[in-house]
Amino acid sequence: MSGGEKIGEGDALLIVDVQNDFCPGGALPIAGGDAILARVNALIDEASGAGALVGASRDWHPANHPSFSAQGGPWPRHCVQREKGAAFHDDLKLPSSAMIVTKGDRLDSDQYSAFDRTGLAEELRRRKVKRVWVCGLALDVCVRATALDSVAAGFPTFLVTCASAPVTAEGGAAALAELARAGVQLVD
Ligand SMILES: [Zn+2]
Repeated sequence: MSGGEKIGEGDALLIVDVQNDFCPGGALPIAGGDAILARVNALIDEASGAGALVGASRDWHPANHPSFSAQGGPWPRHCVQREKGAAFHDDLKLPSSAMIVTKGDRLDSDQYSAFDRTGLAEELRRRKVKRVWVCGLALDVCVRATALDSVAAGFPTFLVTCASAPVTAEGGAAALAELARAGVQLVD
């Protein structure tokens, strides 16, 4: 990993929404969404070996979620609770001890960020986490929102660019610039 920083004890690795529906073949596929899996799994190994916390968020929508186009929202139906599309990708090697963060299960509004009304910041503080590393899908949507909220919650935050993929290249570039301005450290 470049930049001289490494995942260590007291850190948390947050893997955002590496679910079937966000990968090729899914309902809301991100080009190359599954191509990050080898990098993500290498980060999991690094984090586990260093004694860091490994966490994974999942988009977990009720079938009538307001973000779906049938309800007037911006997205096709995706990541419906207990359906195959909502499952983590088969090649994602999460340890059995991984902390799972569920979001998107509210009917009043969507939750792009894993910190949005999930209690995640409090849980990380309870577990004595000092720094947060973020990667996953999609860089310009839920990864962006999660990293911004992480730094806003006071955690020194790293975004692992090579283990993340955007919906669009332009969106990804804009997200990286915004994250850097917000104080998120970009590493690859
Ligand atoms: Zn969603």
